[in-house]
Order: sequence, then C-alpha cells, then structure tokens
Amino acid sequence: MRKNVWLVLALMLVVLVACSSATPVPTKSALPQAPAGTGLRKVQDRGKLVVGTRSDTPTFCYLNPQTNQLEGFDVALAKEIANYIFGDPSKVEFKIITSAQRIPQLKEGVIDLAIATMTINEERLKEIDFSVVYYVAGQRILVPQASTIKGLTDLDNKKVGAARGTTSATNLKQMTKAQVVEFDTWAAAAQALVAGQLDAVSTDDIILYGFQLAYPGTKVVGSQFSYEPYGVG
Ligand code: GLU
Repeated sequence: MRKNVWLVLALMLVVLVACSSATPVPTKSALPQAPAGTGLRKVQDRGKLVVGTRSDTPTFCYLNPQTNQLEGFDVALAKEIANYIFGDPSKVEFKIITSAQRIPQLKEGVIDLAIATMTINEERLKEIDFSVVYYVAGQRILVPQASTIKGLTDLDNKKVGAARGTTSATNLKQMTKAQVVEFDTWAAAAQALVAGQLDAVSTDDIILYGFQLAYPGTKVVGSQFSYEPYGVG
C-alpha cells in the first residue's frame, strides 16, 4: 500500500490557504529531492504529477465547453498539489478516467493520484491509501421537475441511474428496491434522465447540484441518505 504522508501535509496546506485567502495562490518553493525509491521521488524525477480525474462531474471535475479547460474543485486541488511539489501549478498531467477506473489505474501505477469526488470507505482502504478528508457530501436524488419522487422510499421499482464502480450504485442496491441502471459516466446518466429514459439519478449531492444547474428541467430532492467523505486516492 502506498504511504503518502507528504500528500496529507500538502492537503492540509491547501485547506489552510483556501480558507485564509480568496486571492490567487502564489507559487511555492519546490520540495527538496525526496529519498530514492519513494513515490514522491518518482514524481519529482518525472517532472510532473499524473492525476486521474473526470471531465463530466460538474462542480468538481468537468470540461468547461466554453474554455475547453478542465475546471472544478478537484482540478484546482491537483494543481495546488503540483504547486506544492514543484513550485509550479502547471506541472500536472490530467488523465480522464471513469469512476470504475480509479482504483485499477492507481494500482497499476497509470496515475499517481485519483482526485475525482472519491469517497473514502473501508472497502477501498483495503486496496489504496487516501489523503485526509477534504470535502463531505451526502447522497441525494435528481429527478425531472414534474416528478412526484420526494425521497429514498419513492425509488422502489423505479429506474434509477448511477455510474459503475461507485458507492452511489452500491447504496442504491442495498437501500432500495430500485432498478439500478449503470453507466460509465455520470454525464451519461444525467443525459438519460433528461431524455426521459430514467426516473431518477442518484449520487453525491454536490454533483447533482451541478447537473441541476446544467439541466433546468431537473431538481434535487430528498434528504442526504449516506455520508460521502472525499479523499485523494
Ligand atoms: N463519491 C462516490 C464514489 O466515490 C460517487 C461519485 C463518484 O463517482 O465519484 O463512488
């Protein structure tokens, strides 16, 4: 299992800086060379951090069609970690991955870090390490404006979309009698909802709020029914 003590320190700094100032974060001094054989040294020798993220999760990691740039909280976090390591926030290469690819790509070493609205849980901790928690979301439900669905108990026998390999899909299977329809991406699930192929989509509320903004014909309903602490995997 990878040990990323340096990452925890980096994230603490990120949180402190984010809380203390609304102005752009200045570049930092690069970290001194880490001992040979460590993960950090591999990243330093390569000269860039390789981060797995997504392009379809509004608010945290999405491709802004107007600028054609990746944007969001997770994207900013990746740049700040590169800033901490190299003294240069641009020294990060993003690889666009699906939710289900996060753990395999980390284990195969294709990416150094996954920063993609990733929930920390015991099952995942058996396979990978996480940073400290940097955001806490809760699972809720997105429905068409005209829907009568108001919460979890209304989902039984309904078609509910979720991305594969996520805690959201697992929670729906364990907590409801919904027909869970799985997609590679959250965007595909949201588009299927808007196209009338689903009754609801359910995942972390902060992601659903992004889709609600993107698709005004939808609304977020119900109370949070699971605790989803995000960490860098
Ligand atoms: N946070 C949940 C997870 O890690 C669902 C959202 C996502 O796909 O990131 O599985």
